[in-house]
Amino acid sequence: MSRLLIIGPPGAGKGTQAARLSVRLDVPAVSTGDIFRDNVRNGTELGVLAKSYMDRGEYVPDSVTDDLVKDRLSAADATGGFLLDGYPRTIAQVRSLDEYLAERGESLDAVIQLTADHEETVQRLLRRAKEQGRSDDTEDVIRRRLEVYAEQTAPLIDLFASRGVLVSVDGLGSIDEVTDRIVQALDGLGITAPAA
Ligand code: AMP
Repeated sequence: MSRLLIIGPPGAGKGTQAARLSVRLDVPAVSTGDIFRDNVRNGTELGVLAKSYMDRGEYVPDSVTDDLVKDRLSAADATGGFLLDGYPRTIAQVRSLDEYLAERGESLDAVIQLTADHEETVQRLLRRAKEQGRSDDTEDVIRRRLEVYAEQTAPLIDLFASRGVLVSVDGLGSIDEVTDRIVQALDGLGITAPAA
């Protein structure tokens, strides 16, 4: 069973890879961004709050996000493993997740860092903006999201590296190529797909 996190700048392709790995490893992908967007779509109280941050490229407050993830990870389908996408994103979120997992006698087995060139990610995000019309994919907001990532989330990479759970994968290339690289890197850690 695997407890995994995929981390990387906006536009690195985390969501796409998380969806594929989730099928392959038979664990639910838990994306805080997707959960927030679902709530925005459904007009919930959480959605209204989340949107006010997302539309500016800022992070939703830790207290809100931490509780949301604890709830989600407590669901039956996540007891045997999960793939987190986009959480934790701050040092405080790492602490909250550590504490929650420790109560379950668990910890993250691997953190997949998806690397991507800065300008390439901006271009990818602008392309996605045209295709999907996400309200946080305008150029100004994209630049702010990349800044917030560099300030608040990039420091987590060193932290996970020091724990010996980090695998770095080049996010450049076709979707299949990147998936193959991740699968190989996880293999190296003994994390493999369950037998069919
Ligand atoms: P994403 O789809 O992962 O790029 O997330 C889109 C937006 O949702 C982010 O720019 C944040 O505003 C918000 N968000 C997603 N995950 C988190 C998180 N772990 N902490 C705070 N805000 C988040």
